[in-house]
Amino acid sequence: MSDSGPETARVSAPVAIILFGSPGSGKGTQSKYIVDWLGIPQISTGDMLRDHIRRGTEIGVSIASRMRAGTLVPDELVNALVAERVARPDCAKGFILDGYPRTTAQARQMMRLLNPLGVEEVVIHLVVDYNVIIARMQGRRVCPKCGTLYNSVSRPPKTEGICDLDGEKLVVREDDRPEVVRERLEQYEAQTRPVIDFFRQDNHRVFDVDASRERPETVFSRIQGMLADIPGLTVKEVVV
Ligand code: ADP
Repeated sequence: MSDSGPETARVSAPVAIILFGSPGSGKGTQSKYIVDWLGIPQISTGDMLRDHIRRGTEIGVSIASRMRAGTLVPDELVNALVAERVARPDCAKGFILDGYPRTTAQARQMMRLLNPLGVEEVVIHLVVDYNVIIARMQGRRVCPKCGTLYNSVSRPPKTEGICDLDGEKLVVREDDRPEVVRERLEQYEAQTRPVIDFFRQDNHRVFDVDASRERPETVFSRIQGMLADIPGLTVKEVVV
């Protein structure tokens, strides 16, 4: 899967990998690569919220219209979801935060949550050009069953319109409609971009990765290189 050959890796110290970037920057795709590589779970606040909507829970009902419009849901709500999720046993070796934190208030809360856990934190900032994002999101399709993302240009399914993994018919996510995409990007500029400055000022380890031009596999091998350089973080095992 990666360019790094027949090697896999496991984390040796608990790690919180914070995948940061605008809508369409590839956070979900990179998360899935990292899950396979390091064997730690992906915590996607967007997926958790969509799951609540699908199940028609009280939370789901309360956020449905905001999600449809592409606006952020309240900090307290996502903070509580993430706090509950990272306390589960499968997060003991670490986890990937995909789409959280998205406001500086969430980032402060995240610090309060992670400090006592003693995890190594790494922020991976996927940097993507605005026009590239717009083009990407127009071609984006998702499998409603397993959540796999496809893109007509960079990651087409083997058969057009059909999920490679389970044969489901692919759909356009409701908030990928053009007017909603614009709103999501505005929310990102106003509320989320300042979080990266917060991380930098607060002396977090932030890695910028150019995710505009390269293919997702190449972006992933860059991320692997960055993470492998952190002493004690990953243990390489050769697969025979
Ligand atoms: P993307 O990163 O492509 O916008 P996500 O699936 O991460 O997609 O998010 C979809 C929607 O879920 C957002 O537009 C927002 O309404 C909501 N959401 C997800 N994560 C958060 C968060 N951390 N804080 C507030 N709202 C969130």
